[in-house]
Amino acid sequence: MKAGMIGLGAMGLGMARNLAKAGYLTAVFNRTPAKTAEFTVAVFDSPEALAAEVDIVLICVSADQDVLSVIEAIALTIKPGAIVVDMSTVSSATAKKAATILAEKQVVFLDAPVSGGTEGAKNGTLAMMVGGDVAALEKAMPVLEAMAARIIHMGATGSGQATKAVNQIMGAGINQAVTEALAFAQTQGLVMDKVIDVISGGASGNWFLQHRGSTMTEGTFVPGFKVALHHKDLKICQVMAAQTEALIPLVDMTVISYEQLMAEGYGDEDISALYRLKKQ
Ligand code: NAP
Repeated sequence: MKAGMIGLGAMGLGMARNLAKAGYLTAVFNRTPAKTAEFTVAVFDSPEALAAEVDIVLICVSADQDVLSVIEAIALTIKPGAIVVDMSTVSSATAKKAATILAEKQVVFLDAPVSGGTEGAKNGTLAMMVGGDVAALEKAMPVLEAMAARIIHMGATGSGQATKAVNQIMGAGINQAVTEALAFAQTQGLVMDKVIDVISGGASGNWFLQHRGSTMTEGTFVPGFKVALHHKDLKICQVMAAQTEALIPLVDMTVISYEQLMAEGYGDEDISALYRLKKQ
């Protein structure tokens, strides 16, 4: 199966490298061409040129409008019977719109957002939550397994993104808890490496503490996962919650914090930059 990757950002680059290692990657496209330089596969100068040449199109771009512009472009040239897998984090509504556009071309669309950070993308250990046709997922599975260690079919189109929204709400709470607790630890005059080490081994241990604890307390906020991207995800969660009158106060609070960080010029930093506000 010939796979083409669209989007070689913090996540897409690691994913594409793993696809190449597994022998599936035959084509890449990135809006900023310089990021394609390391690849020895075919490099295309547009999504539509890539889509004409592969059996499976993998997408990892930023936000809803970006996914839809890529989908509209590839719909012009994609072969009937191809599969499109979008691993960006967008709304369920966008996933449904993408599926409708591609269904007219006899192409199946899977929404397949991921969790596991840039480390998971690099190591091929992502968790992937998939919405859409089961048969298409089974067909795509060997390719997806080059990038993800856990791949779960969640239900109909859009349910992958709905699950990712659940993940992003948890991520907001974990970010609030870890940054606040570590800022408090510093006020207690504790040795931060020891705090992170011992707590990581107990009931409050978690991925974010282990992977971002040391860097945040050293004042380094290299993404990782950008504040502006998590803010985008949480705004999606707010829209979804409003539709069912669900209350998500942790999300509301985190949106306000992220907007403050973005206004201060920290939107492209890792989400652990929330520590800046807690430390104040
Ligand atoms: P990123 O580093 O900012 O990369 C974004 C990628 O999308 C770049 O390759 C960018 O091209 C491309 N792009 C953006 N708009 C585009 C458009 N209109 N047309 C074509 N290409 C476009 O972001 P990332 O961290 O890789 O995140 C990508 C997606 O994965 C997002 O939806 C994010 O929420 C999700 N995600 C991120 C993480 C994480 O830890 N970073 C984890 C899970 C999920 P250029 O190179 O030209 O800018």
